[in-house]
Amino acid sequence: MVATDRADLDSLRPALDDHRTPLPGAFGLDVAGEVREPHGWHDDVDPATGDRLATVASATAEEIADAVAAARAAAPAWASRPPGERGTLLRRLADLVRRDQEVLARLETRDTGKPLAQGRADITAAARYFEFYGSVVEGFLGDSIPLGAGSLAVVEHVPHGVTGHVVPWNYPAQITARSVGAALAVGNATVVKPADEAPLVALAYARLAREAGFPAGVVNVLPGGAEAGSALTAHPEVDHVSFTGSVVTGRSVARACADRGRPVLLELGGKSAHLVLEGADIDRAAPVIARALLLHAGQTCTAGTRVVVHESLHRRLVDALVPYFAEATLGPGLTDPTVGPVVSGAQADRVAGFLDRAAAQGAVIAAAAKPPAEALGGFFVPPVLFDQVGQDTELFAEEVFGPLLAVTPVDSDAAAVAAAHNSRYGLTAAVWCQDVDRALRVARTLDVGQTYVNGYAPGGGVELPFGGTRDSGYGREKGAEALREYSRARTLFVDIAGA
Ligand code: NAD
Repeated sequence: MVATDRADLDSLRPALDDHRTPLPGAFGLDVAGEVREPHGWHDDVDPATGDRLATVASATAEEIADAVAAARAAAPAWASRPPGERGTLLRRLADLVRRDQEVLARLETRDTGKPLAQGRADITAAARYFEFYGSVVEGFLGDSIPLGAGSLAVVEHVPHGVTGHVVPWNYPAQITARSVGAALAVGNATVVKPADEAPLVALAYARLAREAGFPAGVVNVLPGGAEAGSALTAHPEVDHVSFTGSVVTGRSVARACADRGRPVLLELGGKSAHLVLEGADIDRAAPVIARALLLHAGQTCTAGTRVVVHESLHRRLVDALVPYFAEATLGPGLTDPTVGPVVSGAQADRVAGFLDRAAAQGAVIAAAAKPPAEALGGFFVPPVLFDQVGQDTELFAEEVFGPLLAVTPVDSDAAAVAAAHNSRYGLTAAVWCQDVDRALRVARTLDVGQTYVNGYAPGGGVELPFGGTRDSGYGREKGAEALREYSRARTLFVDIAGA
């Protein structure tokens, strides 16, 4: 059986209540408005147990090409629809996502490993993305440029055509909704390639888009790995690519796009810093810093993995952070622990390597959580709070994508800024200081895509433009800004004779 429609999504519900039960049936490709049997299948593994969660299609290059052809065929009619009609469909999709919130939240939780409360929050945000882009697109106006009575000059925003979306495994529900929502709103037809590790919610969106009334070929979803991803990003008929994932893969995607002269948006992760200056309110900062890091076991590109703290507040801050780590509970996402498993055995091994090397390089373990009470066979990595992390160490500079927090004392604001910049990434940062003038002076000097003052929301809200500098990538997702990303300006000039 291939899960095809709402009835099939409902049939998943009983299996989604128990972290030991695999999902029934199999999840095919969603191409040209129908579910297709793939050439090959893949075992989607449950991070909480290490066992098979679901049997899911793994697309070949040929199947990707079929989907691109379907999108190409659908693109002109979709682009010519009034924005208000496209917006209505997106808002209807948002309503369907809300109707199926619990099934989708549990799918996301079991697929990625994250705690159920976070799975639910992700689906809430996903519905907001579809709703937001379905609404703001109606205010996405062109321009007229006054050049005198003898001419008319108009600038329109037109879609690229076919957009390709390569989605990672950490936040598939949100990342798919944000990039596909903006691309659809401005009139692109989309081909989405979710990661092999966590493709289920993106597939569910394709089914809900059909129910919402999106025309066949406008939303195509094909799970797969490197073969499918490189086939999509190198395809000559894909007019724009959105990629979220690692630096190495992102650069190969950018090269493939450059080879055929097409635009690409890269969201490649980060090593985001909290700058805790003299005069910071530690009681305000500590819970926010700890929760942002523990969210999805540190597998958030904006996790806030470094804390650069003035030496006068260093001891107090570490003491305030310790309980969040020492008391963190680990378990399957469905049991709603503080921290779920990381996504795969490979990711757990990667984090373990960082942990061993950090200790060897002189970082001090200030607190660590206990492993899960029950031996579950999943990929559990207890969170660790590291203190006295040297600025020349790997833990200070490299993205771990696991629940390790690095605290480093400094003696001035200038030293805090220099430390924050002592990384090749530039995604987000937070500045903590009750003297807001001082905080703003520091915030304005930071070379990152988003800066927070006296607060921190990993990834920010639906409305805030998001993206990085330097190795964190380029281009902007989220907010109304993304409508510019997924469209291009087209100028129309008319010469008016006799004026
Ligand atoms: P990855 O870059 O290999 O995978 C991301 C996506 O790209 C997946 O959908 C994958 O199937 C696809 N892909 C793989 N090879 C491809 C290719 N040659 N061409 C096109 N697409 C391809 O990342 P990963 O191996 O899943 O994770 C490794 C590291 O990436 C993590 O440890 C983390 O540092 C980083 N990461 C960052 C984010 C983020 O939000 N920025 C998300 C996930 C992973």
